[in-house]
Amino acid sequence: VRPRHGRRHNLSLVRQTLYFDGPMSRADLARATGLTRVTISDLVTELLECGHARELGTSSDVRPGKPSTLIDINRPGLQIIGLDLTAHRVLRGAVLDLDGVVLARTERRVDDVAVVDLADVLDLARETVALATAPVLGVGVGTPGLVSEDGMVRSASNLGWTDVPLRDELATATGLPVQVANDAASAARAAYTLLGASDDFLLVRIGRGVGSSLIVGGTQLLGAHHAAGEIGHVTVGNDGGATCRCGKVGCLETWLSAPNLERALTAADGSAEPLVEAGTRLGIAIAPVIAALDLTEIVLSGPEHLLTAPLVEAAQSTIDSRLLRHPDVHVAVNVAADPDDIVLRGAAGLVLSSQLGVI
Ligand SMILES: [Zn+2]
Repeated sequence: VRPRHGRRHNLSLVRQTLYFDGPMSRADLARATGLTRVTISDLVTELLECGHARELGTSSDVRPGKPSTLIDINRPGLQIIGLDLTAHRVLRGAVLDLDGVVLARTERRVDDVAVVDLADVLDLARETVALATAPVLGVGVGTPGLVSEDGMVRSASNLGWTDVPLRDELATATGLPVQVANDAASAARAAYTLLGASDDFLLVRIGRGVGSSLIVGGTQLLGAHHAAGEIGHVTVGNDGGATCRCGKVGCLETWLSAPNLERALTAADGSAEPLVEAGTRLGIAIAPVIAALDLTEIVLSGPEHLLTAPLVEAAQSTIDSRLLRHPDVHVAVNVAADPDDIVLRGAAGLVLSSQLGVI
């Protein structure tokens, strides 16, 4: 590690410590990070100068000597723009604070179009940036489809896009740093940074399709083709099933995507059987992944009226029955809070991670 990299790492460590545990004094920050008082003092000065941290007045602790000044991440002084391109027929934007709370919203209807016009997304971004009331740290975007490392949307059938350089176009339009991820990766970021998920989990996102994203050892896995977590078109079982929109038979999506599940529930006339079947198929599909990676948690993200007890319990019992029994190992299946805003908040989390090193 060269000194410059060491300093960058230490700045991230300080920002991360303040973000999750602040406000605190310089002395407490030194203790929490294991860095020296002199180093902390120097790093804090840099963070105060660039606006990433702020001083909050003095500690109320009764200690001998001079009361110490508290330092915090600059929560009121910085904002983030989030965009969610996954909702049906509407593009959504928001101004968020550093804790992922939505402060203002924007949206743009895209009724009945096969191809979403990139200009609409750029206009929405500019309109949302204009609503910010503090300096903007960056723009985060959760989009359907496959996203490459350089923020290019390789293919997103729901938007009608192939090879759209979304990150670069948004950076030019707004003059801000931009992070683009697919919606499952974005939701996983929200679950991890803002909603308290564990260090080793699989987030399964149920929407028009089925996607997932893996966080292992606190690190988001992207895969060799940035397609890690694309489980929607994995064939589940060898007992057939419905024909999928991809042309194969028995893809996970044929049971679990929101439109397919809603259709099955309508046909079942009040029976919860389609929910049990969907949860069971999900459990079959992901049990080997859980075992291979030693995960502790499955987080389900999607419409509240579908992620109900019959589906969750079927997934849980299927997973439990298919993994090696071990008294110390329990894999919890949980439903993510805040389904409507999880992609927007995750998009903000992407910016927190890239710009402040908060993960
Ligand atoms: Zn398929």
